[in-house]
Amino acid sequence: MSSHDESRFGADVYGARLERAAELTRAARLDALLITPGPDLQYLIGSRAQSHERLTCLVVPASGETPSVVIPKLELAALGPSAVAELGLRIVDWVDGVDPHALVKSILNAGARTAVDDNMPALHVLPITDRLGTLPVSATPVLRELRMLKDPSEIDALRRAGAAIDRVHARMGEFLRAGRTEAEVAADITAAIIAEGHTRAAFVIVGSGPHGADPHHEVSDRVIEDGDVVVVDIGGPVEPGYFSDSTRTYVLGEPSEEIAEQFAVLERAQAAAVAAVRPGVTAESVDAAARDLLAAAELAEYFVHRTGHGIGLSVHEEPYIVAGNDLVLEEGMAFSIEPGIYFAGEWGARIEDIVVVTADGCESVNKRPHGLTRL
Ligand code: ZN
Ligand code: ZN
Ligand code: ZN
Repeated sequence: MSSHDESRFGADVYGARLERAAELTRAARLDALLITPGPDLQYLIGSRAQSHERLTCLVVPASGETPSVVIPKLELAALGPSAVAELGLRIVDWVDGVDPHALVKSILNAGARTAVDDNMPALHVLPITDRLGTLPVSATPVLRELRMLKDPSEIDALRRAGAAIDRVHARMGEFLRAGRTEAEVAADITAAIIAEGHTRAAFVIVGSGPHGADPHHEVSDRVIEDGDVVVVDIGGPVEPGYFSDSTRTYVLGEPSEEIAEQFAVLERAQAAAVAAVRPGVTAESVDAAARDLLAAAELAEYFVHRTGHGIGLSVHEEPYIVAGNDLVLEEGMAFSIEPGIYFAGEWGARIEDIVVVTADGCESVNKRPHGLTRL
């Protein structure tokens, strides 16, 4: 028996996923899935291989036959020896000078109907399309059900990620002070994200004062001032690759009465959306729960993005918690609830937790207090 490897689930997990993926491919009336390095490949075989101009591609036949991996000889180690050995994948290796896209065709038949992962670069999609003579479709709708419904070991990973990022927020007083730049604060947060158990920091947003009004501001050399409201949105992956993503809003000193009042509405909106989550309701109804509450306080126009996004091996994945998405929520789905209010040129605020749908509601993997935290 090999020793416990926390970077992967057991071979049985990936074997079952590959079988289910083949079934779903068959149900979608396709002949094969073609998956290049990225979250879908990590989901199906646990491999962290990186995407390159040289083609690495998992071919999952709908027939249920053994999946193949077309791979440059020099990338075999990066694929993960355990992935290959444990799963009994058929290796079709190639060296420079060989046409790897033709190798994909040799595994399938001309005219095969395929689905490709959304991260496959055009430099592979186009030649594969040419060799097969058929236009692939997206694998995301095929794998949607599989990727969206987290099993207990995935939920456990999301809980560990949530606890790790909570520990970073708990230490914010060490990092965030007037007189420091956003970049200095972010460098300390980055180190803390790793120290608290992530393999890396995937994103660190420190939006102080007017920068808080830009939802995707990252960091700058702006010096944080007394009285600033500061949006801190941070996350990264924990083994085996599941992401944390949590936002809290801080204030240096005392907030004005207006800021405190508007923030209190945001806090209620975030809680209302969390309270709306349970199996059987639509994604858009959860978005509406937050939006309606802000609208009642005439703040809806300052909430300029969707309420949330799914999370797992990708930071942003299905289900999206957004107007127009009538997807019905099911137990095991995991996503963010992150309403925000943004006053251009002035200040902004956001509160973000990751929740997992349970039998009768949801569990938040983030446990830090939601209020405007005074530092
Ligand atoms: Zn985002
Ligand atoms: Zn976030
Ligand atoms: Zn998020």
